Amino acid sequence: MAGGKRVVIVGVPGVGKTTVMKRFMDRLKERGVKVEVVVYGTVMLEEAEKYGVTDRDELRKMGLEEMKEIQLKAARRIGEMESEMLIIDTHLIIRTKEGYLPGLPSKVLKELNPTNLVLITASPEEIKERRESDKSRRRDMISLEEIKEEIDLSMNYLSAVSNEAGIPVMIVKNERGKVDEAVDRLMEALG
Ligand code: ATP
Ligand code: MG
Repeated sequence: MAGGKRVVIVGVPGVGKTTVMKRFMDRLKERGVKVEVVVYGTVMLEEAEKYGVTDRDELRKMGLEEMKEIQLKAARRIGEMESEMLIIDTHLIIRTKEGYLPGLPSKVLKELNPTNLVLITASPEEIKERRESDKSRRRDMISLEEIKEEIDLSMNYLSAVSNEAGIPVMIVKNERGKVDEAVDRLMEALG
């Protein structure tokens, strides 16, 4: 099989995926690795703009059928991207009003063709704090109970996705003020 690593990074909203991944990318670049990062939500938003959606946090409020269509279109585009290391910043599950939608169903996985899966974790309390203090985004303000529910469900999806794709899974803790430690683990495993 041609090409380099295709690393999918997941975790509940606000856990710190984008933060960890950006620093990981900087470290890889220092080592001379050709790395590209793609934020799934950004590619989806580009596709959704054709449907009149202009804000990433509005994506979750689209109709389910449209959302799934856009999700697959984004997967096809990302599937065509190539790099020595491609990091895909995405979600295992997406909250919709009809319930949780899988972020990486079979069809999407097939297009993305990942080689590694990384789950970023933190305590529900920290996740709640981070969501509340991050003014750059308009995340849904959900309760501690709901965050716990998302974490539990994520663990189930994690093994399902790993099995479906036949790829290894890493669980990386992103504790308060310890982004560098999370990045160290990623560097050891993937750098
Ligand atoms: P989303 O899935 O919604 O994009 P995310 O997982 O990418 O969320 P980030 O945007 O990276 O989350 O982080 C959310 C907030 O938490 C940001 O304000 C970020 O600065 C902060 N944060 C991330 N990691 C840590 C950490 N280890 N300690 C303290 N704050 C952190
Ligand atoms: Mg993010």
